[in-house]
Amino acid sequence: MHISASTFLLVSSGLLGLSEASKRTPKNPQTCCNLLNQKFHGQGKVVMQSHPDYTTLNAHWLAASQLSPTCIFTPKTARDVSKAVALFSHHHCVFAIRSGSHMPNKGFSSTDNGILISLSGLDEVSYDRHRHIVKVGAGNRWTNVYNHLDPKGVAVLGSRDSDVGVSGFLLGGGISFLSNKYGWSSDNVVEYEIVLANGSIIKANKYQHVDLLGCLRGGSSNFGIVTSFTLKTYNINAHAAGVVRYAQSSVPQLFTPLYNYIVTGQDADPNYHIIPNFIKDAGQPHRATFTQFYTREVDLSNPPLVMKPFVDGSIPAYNNFVANLTGVGSLPKAFGGGSTLSSPFRSQWHVTSVLADEQLFRTIHSLWLNVSLPYETSIPGFSNSIAMQPIGNKYIQTTNATPGRNVLGITAPLVVISANIYWSNASDDTTMELFLKDLFTKIKAAAAAVGKAAGYEYLNYGGVNQNPLTQYGHNNLVRMRRVKRKYDPRNVFGTLVEGGFKIPGI
Ligand SMILES: Cc1cc2nc3c(=O)[nH]c(=O)nc-3n(C[C@H](O)[C@H](O)[C@H](O)COP(=O)(O)OP(=O)(O)OC[C@H]3O[C@@H](n4cnc5c(N)ncnc54)[C@H](O)[C@@H]3O)c2cc1C
Repeated sequence: MHISASTFLLVSSGLLGLSEASKRTPKNPQTCCNLLNQKFHGQGKVVMQSHPDYTTLNAHWLAASQLSPTCIFTPKTARDVSKAVALFSHHHCVFAIRSGSHMPNKGFSSTDNGILISLSGLDEVSYDRHRHIVKVGAGNRWTNVYNHLDPKGVAVLGSRDSDVGVSGFLLGGGISFLSNKYGWSSDNVVEYEIVLANGSIIKANKYQHVDLLGCLRGGSSNFGIVTSFTLKTYNINAHAAGVVRYAQSSVPQLFTPLYNYIVTGQDADPNYHIIPNFIKDAGQPHRATFTQFYTREVDLSNPPLVMKPFVDGSIPAYNNFVANLTGVGSLPKAFGGGSTLSSPFRSQWHVTSVLADEQLFRTIHSLWLNVSLPYETSIPGFSNSIAMQPIGNKYIQTTNATPGRNVLGITAPLVVISANIYWSNASDDTTMELFLKDLFTKIKAAAAAVGKAAGYEYLNYGGVNQNPLTQYGHNNLVRMRRVKRKYDPRNVFGTLVEGGFKIPGI
């Protein structure tokens, strides 16, 4: 079914009186699966629980977040998605949307109450070397994109772990190895193809649906199902990358160069990018892992100034695996190989942000170590890390220069502070939730005490008990609400899609 623009206008203006309809009780999921099966009869796109492929298709990156959808729908085209969404809207069927399933929050990319749309069949990657763009199907993992682009000598702003899905990553913002140079990954998307709640397929780019374009740059799954993203490509291939690991004794020496990198280094030399990560596994000494990336080959015996303090041995490292490589996907693929399905652990993330301050970084680090200490012995499988990642001037400049301004609401540089914890037993879930709550209450209080709390919460690292959308600022909330009412007036993506971060006040 293709829905015309005039029907779309009637629906979006509310003239069809559909807002009342959204209050109806959802249909029985088995009935929904049967209806879907009839619509796609004989095409093998609706996988019931009894089907041999169900278990493989259902597997989630985080085993603890794997649910039991009544059936799994595997579209191959945007038209398939359109027909299914129109059916779900009409019959009030609960559904969940999944790209790479790397969002650990339970219920975000699966459901126990309905149909899982697994987008993995939308795996197109079409590179246009004349226009320096690539069209990427919404079900791709970044590894597939890198496999296509690396041999052509070009790069996109994708995930630093190649196993992550393109959709969740891009709809939340996207921090890439190239972000210090080119900004948010989502600000590098020139066109989104999206299926709206009424089944219409539209394109949001700088010429049409510009209001929606801005909201897709950070607004997550609230507006529709994106079926493809068209991204800018850059002529980057040979580069330097790797990981430097520091023992506990070296950690105190890292904060001064980290602060310098954040406040001046990343702007002075945006070719350089690091992921500064502090790790504490139960029973193991504390360590720090600083992942390195430089967009060109470097002379490792005389590295660029900005990189030097982290790799030249002046801060003793017990491992230094930085090398010149080809194919920008090579390091993400090395990480991705390690994270592929399916972690046996349970996991939660939490995030906040602060303004750069060396002493505050040290305070946050000590707080994190101290607050987590008791859990190391009491929680089986406890593993804990905290990262401090800058969102610098280049992000803001790119946002300001990009049509369809993103809704993230960042107007000054800040540092994203995110914790990522793992543990083994479901019986410890509540304790771990309380641990994160306690830790972040203390971190925010420490930042506020020195006037350095920033408020912004990066959606892609948002915990299940957070709602990063509430931190995008009043004007962006108003924008998102307006655009939501225009493109999804029945709030299908707020009610029938149960998981995900929702726009407050809808
Ligand atoms: C190992 C690992 C490494 C990571 N590395 C990075 C990194 O380098 N940089 C960074 O910024 N983030 C990173 N992240 C965070 C990551 O960006 C988010 O977890 C992101 O949501 C994952 O996207 P996904 O498609 O795999 O997830 P999914 O769980 O499939 O989807 C996430 C959310 O998006 C919705 N969604 C998915 N597809 C669509 C669609 N087509 N249309 C509408 N809604 C959709 C889902 O319903 C869900 O709510 C990493 C995460 C992990 C686990």
